[in-house]
Amino acid sequence: MTAPAIVILGAGALATARRIQALYAEGGVASDCQVHALQGRVAADVSYTELGAHLRELYARGTPIVALCAAGIVIRCLAPLLSNKGAEPPVLAVAEDGSAVVPLLGGLAGVNVMARDIAAALAVQPAITTSGELRFGTCVLNPPDGYALADLGQGKRFVSDLLAGESTRIEGDAPWLDDAQLPRSASARLAIRVTPHAWDGREDELVIHPRCVVAAVVVSDGAYAKADTDAAHAIVASVRAALSAHGFAALSLAALLVPSASMTDPALARAATLLDVPLRFADAGAEAGEPNAETLLHTALRVPHETLPELAHDAANLHVALALAPLAIDPATIGRARGRLSVIGLGPGRPDLMVPAARTALNEATDILGYDTYVKMAGPLRPDQRVHGTDNREEMQRARHAFELASAGRSVVMVSSGDPGVFAMAAAVLEALEASQNDAWAAVELSIVPGVSAALATAAQAGAPLGHDFCMLSLSDNLKPWTIIETRLRHAAQADLVMAFYNPISRARPWQLDKALDIVREYRAPSTQVVLGRDIGRPGGTLRTLTLGELRSADVDMRTMVIVGSSLTRSFACGDHGAQWVYTPRWYEALLTPPSDPPPPAA
Ligand code: SAH
Repeated sequence: MTAPAIVILGAGALATARRIQALYAEGGVASDCQVHALQGRVAADVSYTELGAHLRELYARGTPIVALCAAGIVIRCLAPLLSNKGAEPPVLAVAEDGSAVVPLLGGLAGVNVMARDIAAALAVQPAITTSGELRFGTCVLNPPDGYALADLGQGKRFVSDLLAGESTRIEGDAPWLDDAQLPRSASARLAIRVTPHAWDGREDELVIHPRCVVAAVVVSDGAYAKADTDAAHAIVASVRAALSAHGFAALSLAALLVPSASMTDPALARAATLLDVPLRFADAGAEAGEPNAETLLHTALRVPHETLPELAHDAANLHVALALAPLAIDPATIGRARGRLSVIGLGPGRPDLMVPAARTALNEATDILGYDTYVKMAGPLRPDQRVHGTDNREEMQRARHAFELASAGRSVVMVSSGDPGVFAMAAAVLEALEASQNDAWAAVELSIVPGVSAALATAAQAGAPLGHDFCMLSLSDNLKPWTIIETRLRHAAQADLVMAFYNPISRARPWQLDKALDIVREYRAPSTQVVLGRDIGRPGGTLRTLTLGELRSADVDMRTMVIVGSSLTRSFACGDHGAQWVYTPRWYEALLTPPSDPPPPAA
């Protein structure tokens, strides 16, 4: 499930918030569940400045909300958004002291289930008000994973008939209703029908589709190569035609199955997205030349099933074969997935400085690789996520390991600190890929997710020292000759660029920083502004502003970011006890005075 945001206004709610957070973290259901706290009042995992705006943003993004405040406040904050139809996340109000749990919105998104879980953890009764749910002990309109309600409007009419006193039959397999207190009768007018066949519009039926049909698609004359949207639409149309030729509802489809050879075909990926089902892969019938759609199904399906004759055959080069299983099929058991490798940046350390795309990649990962320190920083992880932590400095080896895992169908995340493309793993991963010439590696869905690099995080905390042209340099001569570093330092210093030094010093590289500073001092005045950020965004982080004249290499270690200003970089104190800000002006003149014409407005 999507992790709920637990929102609090004051310190009084923190203890209850942490108990609810533990409920989701422990179960491994949503290990990234975070407590959002009002800035200035209380510190938690994420801070926000205005409750209404924050709740509306979470709601609009579909994030489940557990707000530890008065129900009325939550209602008023979300009211402007409620008239818009659309997917509604669960929203609950919980009393600060944990004495009341009130589900407010998201009945079809499982708000009552959340209310029951949270109430059980807090040892109170949830305030469930949904009549169907109260009467029957379950939300009949919210079937479990693997099942889909045919028509919501009809569902609502059906439940009101039940509430008005009618009973129902159940036709088909509905194991989740076994414990429900439904008024059942074999001769009832109403029926809950669990079937892959499309609803025929009968008002006395509640139709629920088990996702028990798999469509295998094979394109015969290389039409896979057509990456355009037309190709995707043609595939979707053929699958829909095949389903309807057998009377199946589109919602009965569990997955789209295609030959492994077409793993990188964007048209198939797009078709699966349009059909809203996972895309799975299998190898079949290579000896017969072209893969055969039926063989594909037999190879990929690990549950009893029957294959159905191809009735609709509207596109000459597209073959669609269907398999029908007696029960809903878990798509994760069909054939294999396309492996994924996401190289992500965690940012400097604080969870709220990690971009949401990196968080999503971590949530979806089956395997996580990286230095132990960074893997810990990326957590908490779920017990089912495999961690390949390592102190191994051999980056190429780690990159190859990531491809081995991903090409076997795993969903791999490689973590770097800051940005993965800045003196980190992304370049190593691409180097390994280019060198490999390995088709299986090339088929991996590779993505690089950016992060807030140490220079940017340090600069932001100091003000805006990178406000004008700057460069980033690594002072490590592990992989480049020191002469290159000297040349670059000289040119950058001469060009009056602000410089951000990564890897400034280490036990194995003790003299390099002093040598670098000697070079810079040939071109920059002793009064040049310098910012030292150590462990920025991490516990115990410090920021220092000093001058180039004052800077000693003893002030710097391998966890420090060194920003050396340009001739224009300046600093000032704001107010009596105010902050010291450092910035590099946007304008550029040889003089240290602002130009007489106002500069153009900042973009
Ligand atoms: N990919 C990382 C950089 C890795 S190189 C990024 O984009 O930030 C490692 C160097 O980055 C360290 O030697 C240090 O100079 C700097 N660094 C990384 N994290 C830092 C932090 N939290 N605070 C200050 N400097 C940091």
